[in-house]
Amino acid sequence: TVNQLKMEFSSRPENVAFARVAVAAFAAQLDFTLNDLEEIKVAVSEAVANAIIHGYGNSPDGIVRVGAVITDRMLEVRVEDDGRGIADVKRALQPSFSTDPDRMGLGFVFMQSFMDRVQVESAAGKGTRVIMSK
Ligand code: ATP
Ligand code: MG
Repeated sequence: TVNQLKMEFSSRPENVAFARVAVAAFAAQLDFTLNDLEEIKVAVSEAVANAIIHGYGNSPDGIVRVGAVITDRMLEVRVEDDGRGIADVKRALQPSFSTDPDRMGLGFVFMQSFMDRVQVESAAGKGTRVIMSK
């Protein structure tokens, strides 16, 4: 059995919390623990915040797409933007790497530690897609 969720929203910071709660509520159909659901929330928040902050440079005019699919025993979440993209994905995934000196560079670390699998598809000028499963 498969169930799916698709949503699109403006790249506004208040939508980070919206996306996090929506995906967690959807994921609750599976028998995740409360701890698992908290971890999913953090991972979704980090990916959506990245889309807004880095992808769209904090402009509210972008569109962020978040999709989730539930199969028998697992959740897959996709977070996509059409923003500036990532020139060097390998480097972006390094712990403590950030292009912003005021940030910690830990978003991808949280995504990788809280989800079982994290895939990043991006190129400069081509937007970014983060696919995570748990
Ligand atoms: P933190 O998440 O700790 O606030 P951060 O966002 O810089 O800091 P990561 O989330 O790990 O750290 O992301 C690492 C880097 O990857 C970012 O600094 C940014 O350069 C790039 N990046 C991540 N997501 C995107 C995106 N959607 N579009 C463009 N660049 C991105
Ligand atoms: Mg981040």
